[in-house]
Amino acid sequence: MHGNNDAVHLIASTEERRPYKVYTERNLDSIEQFLALPEDMQFDIRVVASVLPFRVNEYVVNELIDWSCVPNDPVFRLMFPQKGMLQPGQFDTMAKLHRNGATAEQIKEAARKIQHSMNPHPAGQLALNRPMVDGKIVSGMQHKYRETALYFPSQGQTCHSYCTFCFRWAQFIGDDELKMAATEASTMHAYLKQHPEVTDVLFTGGDPLVMKTRLLKEYLEPLLAPEFDHIKNIRIGSKTLTFWPYRFVSDDDAEELLALFSKITASGKQLAFMAHFDHYQELKTDVCKEAIKRIRATGTMIRAQAPLTRHINNDPDVWVKNWETQLSLGIVPYYFFVARDTGAKHYFEIPLAEAYEIYRQAITRMSGLGRTVRGPSMSAGPGKVEITGIADINGEKVFCLRFLQGRNPEWCYRPFFAKYDEKATWLDQLEPAFGEEKFFFEDEYQAMFKAADTAAA
Ligand SMILES: *Cc1c(COP(=O)(O)O)cnc(C)c1O
Ligand code: SF4
Repeated sequence: MHGNNDAVHLIASTEERRPYKVYTERNLDSIEQFLALPEDMQFDIRVVASVLPFRVNEYVVNELIDWSCVPNDPVFRLMFPQKGMLQPGQFDTMAKLHRNGATAEQIKEAARKIQHSMNPHPAGQLALNRPMVDGKIVSGMQHKYRETALYFPSQGQTCHSYCTFCFRWAQFIGDDELKMAATEASTMHAYLKQHPEVTDVLFTGGDPLVMKTRLLKEYLEPLLAPEFDHIKNIRIGSKTLTFWPYRFVSDDDAEELLALFSKITASGKQLAFMAHFDHYQELKTDVCKEAIKRIRATGTMIRAQAPLTRHINNDPDVWVKNWETQLSLGIVPYYFFVARDTGAKHYFEIPLAEAYEIYRQAITRMSGLGRTVRGPSMSAGPGKVEITGIADINGEKVFCLRFLQGRNPEWCYRPFFAKYDEKATWLDQLEPAFGEEKFFFEDEYQAMFKAADTAAA
């Protein structure tokens, strides 16, 4: 019932629902296309899926993955665990357990050890971003940059499918409870009331759009009251346009969700849908295009961001086509991220020098409308750091850098320089250029940690 325009109209006009069906490690065997793969590839996937999170739904399997290109299909790489995601020794340990018929408990135990070695909580930010109301921590909130507060509703801590490069599953839970949402929401609202400097609230997860509309309302609708006049922009970070566009087209509460969007934009606030597209292939289906049209019809602006990842999108051609496709659908390209230092990092990571080259080659092929993408940007402890160039200054090859966002807003947009390093993949591997001992922000950043420790003690 899918694959052409008529099908979409059919879905839209009859409100016919596509049943939501999900596959995990436990029912891999019910994916027909998986069973058609060579035996050794199936085995490798099973082994890695016993360590790394695996969750994919039927729409992604049947509509987004081109199985004739597997294993090189980018959406397959995005969804299915690959042998190279574990270090060879780790893979062998797990493979042996599987081959020798180890018990589920033994496999879990060995998997846990490997998971702990994979930096499940990157950037050591927990102690530093703890918003408080009346002396109590506001759970689910992170307020790192002055203007923008992040909020993770507890019911949105999962996703319709799991990306292989993501380790947020360390925080994944997921239990729907209206009452809990209301209590949580009121604490978040209390914090925002006390913080007039916050202009943006970003709802994120996981994916907050796994929540039913009636839950989402508990969080969003109260923000339309006059005491939140300082909140100008409500943002929702979501990968639902990739994983389940039916959320906006034929799900039971699709209309109610779009009505909520309309109500927000009609109130005079901006609603920004922060979409996540790793590859243009995620945008190819009619139902995805229909969903985009419907969201935009509510006055919501869709912006798109994604990390650069080896095996999925490390090619300027892919980015040009990704951004061009976005523009043609009325989406504004926004952030180009360096993949975070967590999870199967060695498999996905790309040196900063190469990331910069890919970005530059891609962006110079876009018209000005596509040059809204900022990057390559690292979301590191002190802030979002952008590589703005590679230059030769007085005979020294350097990275030119700047903060796009900083723990101290004064750090932003001030150029600074690091020694060029062909292999470096993250900010903490860089050293100041020109023989300087420290980057300009380091002392202040360290002092913030000390202050936080003292406050906690
Ligand atoms: C990226 C980010 C934001 C939003 O930054 P913008 O540049 O305004 O999009 C807010 N908080 C945190 C912690 C972030 O990482
Ligand atoms: S949609 Fe986002 S949060 Fe969910 S698995 Fe993918 S990258 Fe992680």
